[in-house]
Amino acid sequence: MATIKATCPMCGDVDLTPRQVRVQVVEALEESHSRRTYAFGCPLCHEDVEKPADAEVVRLLTSAGVHVDRIAVPAEAREEHHGGPIGYDDLLDLVLWLETHDAIAEDMALSHGR
Ligand SMILES: [Zn+2]
Repeated sequence: MATIKATCPMCGDVDLTPRQVRVQVVEALEESHSRRTYAFGCPLCHEDVEKPADAEVVRLLTSAGVHVDRIAVPAEAREEHHGGPIGYDDLLDLVLWLETHDAIAEDMALSHGR
């Protein structure tokens, strides 16, 4: 089994097995927004250590047998938003509006065309 050398900020260099290391890759649509980290519990001081990793480190750890957690960021998370979050007043306004409008699709088409 491969031995992985990592550095604990408290203890210095430590030897780990692939099962002691976790790699997490958060894959955004744009490569520059993607985030890669590796983490391990230090076998000496038992502190959790997390460090940034580049694509090459992820490739090396993967080839050594480390499991990679890949998390895809949905496209909706990358959308640009304007205005504040929806509040209770907005929901109440919507409920009141729905009570007086039967043909919602028709009304939405009219307001969208304005
Ligand atoms: Zn340590």
